[in-house]
Amino acid sequence: MRRSMAALALTAVALLAAACGREGSPPVKGPKPEQLPVYHVATGFELTDSTTWRAAKSRGHLVVGAKEDQPYLGEKDPATGVYSGFDIEIAKMMSASLGFDPKTIVFRTIASANRETGLQNGQIDYYVGTYTINDLRKKQVGFAGPYYIAGQSLLVRKDEKGIDGPQDLAGKKVCSAAGSTPLQRIERDYPKAKPVAYDTYSICVDNLLSLQVDAVTTDDTILMGFAAKAPDELRMAGKPFSREPYGIGVPRGDTALRLALDDAIEEHMKNGDWKKAYDATLGLSGVPAPQPPAVDRYGTAS
Ligand code: GLU
Repeated sequence: MRRSMAALALTAVALLAAACGREGSPPVKGPKPEQLPVYHVATGFELTDSTTWRAAKSRGHLVVGAKEDQPYLGEKDPATGVYSGFDIEIAKMMSASLGFDPKTIVFRTIASANRETGLQNGQIDYYVGTYTINDLRKKQVGFAGPYYIAGQSLLVRKDEKGIDGPQDLAGKKVCSAAGSTPLQRIERDYPKAKPVAYDTYSICVDNLLSLQVDAVTTDDTILMGFAAKAPDELRMAGKPFSREPYGIGVPRGDTALRLALDDAIEEHMKNGDWKKAYDATLGLSGVPAPQPPAVDRYGTAS
């Protein structure tokens, strides 16, 4: 299988950094296992009101949707198939609180455009992957959280001169993922920009490196990871220009699961797991842990 340009470029950068052993160079691998929290698996936990939990219980493990190409958030090691990153840690914390050993989670990669259907047709029990909570999506799925607040931003080539914010996108090709809120915002608020949509942000980054597009737009969390892995080629431009509260997607009718996950998020924020997980994953892109946001147990009118 042909490896993508971005993967090749990032591998080249990683190999170079490793070979030179430069001080302060970006980490070449994912989180160091010894720095990740160990989650206490709840014993005797029952959530019989949740059809999702009951099905997982009889199956013996959870099936969780995630991303596999977002540095420090949700990454799959192509050699081992192991997933890592901040979102993956959140998924593991939730599993432990629901009474399932995180080691038994089966992760499934699901792109931005397919999250709602993945939850609706029972492909996954819950989804953790830079998933913005909003009212439109709440008509299709439920959200526990938020567990983090991101903001839309821009990634450009290091030598880019003309782009310092979304106001500079007129006539520029800007790449984002199909079905994402950043793509919708560009189409709605910046009609002079030329949006280009792919399934994933790593394909957008390929296109940026190969001069096919002028910028990539999505959450700062995602872009910072790509920039940290290729600091000689890529940089962030301007300031964040939206608010993207990240939720854990659950099947819409399963309020019991949603509220149990809200409790679990709060518990792991209070006991220090959240910060420890952040520091060992997303923190590697260079931004210190913020204060965790307040969980929003929204009403259940349906
Ligand atoms: N948070 C945004 C969204 O949910 C962008 C990141 C993504 O596509 O996952 O649409």
